[in-house]
Amino acid sequence: MTEGRPVVLIADDQPDVVEALRLLLKAEGFLTLTAHVPEGVIAQLERTAVDAALIDLNYTRDTTSGREGLDLLSRIRALDPTLPVVVMTAWGSVDKAVEAMRIGARDFIEKPWDNARLLTTLKTQIELARALRAAGREAGFDLAIDSGFRSFERQRSIWNRKASGQLAVLDSESRPLDIAALSPRDLAFAILRWSALPGASRHHWGTDLDVFDAAARPPGYEVRLVPSEVEDGGLFAPLHDWLDERIASGTSYGFFRPYDRDRGGVAAERWHLSFAPIAVAAQRAMSAEFLRGVIQPADILLKNAVLEHLDEIVARFVVNTNADWP
Ligand SMILES: [Zn+2]
Repeated sequence: MTEGRPVVLIADDQPDVVEALRLLLKAEGFLTLTAHVPEGVIAQLERTAVDAALIDLNYTRDTTSGREGLDLLSRIRALDPTLPVVVMTAWGSVDKAVEAMRIGARDFIEKPWDNARLLTTLKTQIELARALRAAGREAGFDLAIDSGFRSFERQRSIWNRKASGQLAVLDSESRPLDIAALSPRDLAFAILRWSALPGASRHHWGTDLDVFDAAARPPGYEVRLVPSEVEDGGLFAPLHDWLDERIASGTSYGFFRPYDRDRGGVAAERWHLSFAPIAVAAQRAMSAEFLRGVIQPADILLKNAVLEHLDEIVARFVVNTNADWP
């Protein structure tokens, strides 16, 4: 990790993209390094300490497979397993971003990018990496991210699959519910226990992360993000006990738990961390009016029930979170 101003390595084969990103980051106080080919990225990383890398997935003109970028990501991971790497993908190619996350990218940005979201994502990742590098390793944990940014589309897909019975809707004890027996309102509220309303997910902000301890994950084990993993005796409980101590002692670098306990809305989610310096402002902007504007035009199942009960939904499931942040 570098001291003072964070250093970001930007890599893209298109010079105008690199220049636009360089100017954007410079104006925000970042120092930047640039590369146009994968070899250049590796050479820079071998020479200089950086705080984050922002890399394109395609480097040869007219290719869109993302293969070069994924190979590059593997090489970066081998060189420095803790460096936060954010990948850039073409708009709508979320499948490639998901593949990149699977091999160690921390987050992704779709092109054309949104400046505010890009900056938020980089700042969050740099802060997280600071926390991770400074403390996690010393304590023997390998803090890994199961999911970071999630788009409205992705959340809408999760919501609609739950509302239509393609994905299980679980009760508070993680048992599947018989959704045919529920009214539209009750079904919407049951989904909201474990899944956010599209437009209201904290994962839309680039500030929130679901984490686990990669050092405690047995080979081949698929992380499920369920209470049994994080409660006493669970695989990831020691990591979370340690995180609790960091949060309580004010040494969590701005990260806190918005769903620290069950407040009658969203279930307690010990795996969910939020970066307070930016998330708090995003949360303040949340309101029933804002969400109504997002949901009204969208293709969302249970829309009528949601709109009818929107004030209650916002009060109970959206803004009803831990207000005690660092
Ligand atoms: Zn989460």
